[in-house]
Amino acid sequence: MYRIRILAMLVTGLLAAAPAFADLKVATSLTDLASVAQFVGGKHVTAQSLCRGFEDPHFVPAKPSLMKAIQHADVYISTGLELDNGWLPLVLPGSRNPKIQHGTKGFVDASEGVQVLEKPTGTVSRAEGDIHPLGNPHYYLDPKALEVVADHLADKFSELDPPNAAEYKANAKAFDERMETSLAKWQKELEPYKGASIVTYHKNFVYFADRFGLNLFGTVEPKPGIPPNPRYLSEQADAMKKSNVKVVIYQPYYNADASNDLAKRAGGVAVEIATEAGGMPGTDDVFSKFDVAVSTLAGALSGKSGGAR
Ligand SMILES: [Zn+2]
Repeated sequence: MYRIRILAMLVTGLLAAAPAFADLKVATSLTDLASVAQFVGGKHVTAQSLCRGFEDPHFVPAKPSLMKAIQHADVYISTGLELDNGWLPLVLPGSRNPKIQHGTKGFVDASEGVQVLEKPTGTVSRAEGDIHPLGNPHYYLDPKALEVVADHLADKFSELDPPNAAEYKANAKAFDERMETSLAKWQKELEPYKGASIVTYHKNFVYFADRFGLNLFGTVEPKPGIPPNPRYLSEQADAMKKSNVKVVIYQPYYNADASNDLAKRAGGVAVEIATEAGGMPGTDDVFSKFDVAVSTLAGALSGKSGGAR
């Protein structure tokens, strides 16, 4: 008993002597969540994502190195809506960190409070390709959804670290304000293309399309998580040609060849856009991610950028 008390005093003393020590060690499933957590946490938080921006967030290999990376985390922020369900249920228990297990105070579901799109009605079937059984989990492509996340994280961080609560709240407010200003800029940039149709590799642009008034014409993959086959692609190319749809969007971790081939056959262009922060150069945080996505998409829709490859 005594020994424990002495040890505790020693540890407290060490922490007090190191002012640069972060108050909360945060780990996340997604780079976007780490980015928001860093804005909200400021100097009191170090945030790190397990999935890197250029990796498919649905399918992250549940390596021991990931478990080790969150061994000493104080907070774990999951994307929720089962986006990380293929790997997190292995990685979390594997970390042997009691502070961040599902259901504890240190576990955060970032989708809480977000208005979920494509929520299935009736019974959910986990049939072939159904990797969005709770609704579409790609809400982090809506700038406004990230404001919800920021406010949520400020509450959680305050609960776990009450002395810095006022700062977390102020940081979240500043984040929301910057997001509102940025959103107005992005909306202006995409305004000329309102109602334009696009094809995306995966069904990950529903929130983005909803926010910016774009029409999702179809996907390169026939079903979420199922790779395209030649027959499906040629049907898609014909449909695109008939409706004069010219733009195909894919991510760094998806099949660029299939996307380019489809665009070429439809007489259009395929562009690579990072949907997660850090997925491509110049997209290090959530703001620059949207900056690059919006300008790339506007360029493609204007018909002036890219061209047939
Ligand atoms: Zn998905």
